[in-house]
Amino acid sequence: MDALENRYRHLLSGLSEAAGQHAPTLLAVSKLQPAASVRALAALGQRCFGENYVQEAIAKQAELADLPLEWHLIGPLQSNKCREAARHFDWVQSVDRAKLLPLLNRERPDDRGALNILLQVNIDGEASKAGCDPADLDALADEAAALPNLRLRGLMAIPEPHPDPAHRRAAFARMKALFDTLKTRHPSCDTLSMGMSDDYPMALAEGATLIRVGTALFGARPARP
Ligand SMILES: *Cc1c(COP(=O)(O)O)cnc(C)c1O
Repeated sequence: MDALENRYRHLLSGLSEAAGQHAPTLLAVSKLQPAASVRALAALGQRCFGENYVQEAIAKQAELADLPLEWHLIGPLQSNKCREAARHFDWVQSVDRAKLLPLLNRERPDDRGALNILLQVNIDGEASKAGCDPADLDALADEAAALPNLRLRGLMAIPEPHPDPAHRRAAFARMKALFDTLKTRHPSCDTLSMGMSDDYPMALAEGATLIRVGTALFGARPARP
């Protein structure tokens, strides 16, 4: 077994241990990784991949067009990239302001079905971070749910990488509470995306249904060119 396969099997076994009623989804974060690494992981059975940069993702997707993969955009989204995002992704996890919703809705091609949407929450109120204020979530969710070419699926967050684990755990718990409230208003919501290489076991313990893992799967990322 090579290193990639080893890391993949290790992650999957951790996920099945954490699984309650529904097995959590593993999103393989392939940003800055070559298409060949995505292909190698797909050959082991992985289907869902996350990318941060729209242009990089489009080029990679073209190389992998023969594979039945599901692509998630997890990087910050500018309004001038909504057209390409709506055409080239199955999910956009980084919707954090109302302005993006009608653009994604308008640009979604009819033959691709509804675009799955997660609302990104700035759960630690960090000045430099993407994500909406929790206070704006209801309005944003109602707007997303009303658009025919979008399907609101839940929430995403990147908590502050605080040195105190209790601080990080509390942020995951606040996300879970927001998610549970959202589900009562919008029963289509089934996805809580939180947890990365360094903290996914804690995120799973607090109720994540999807974890986004890059480094712990592919190893260190090449630098951005
Ligand atoms: C890069 C990235 C990840 C993966 O990070 P790792 O620490 O490599 O697992 C997850 N989520 C988002 C939003 C990212 O940008």
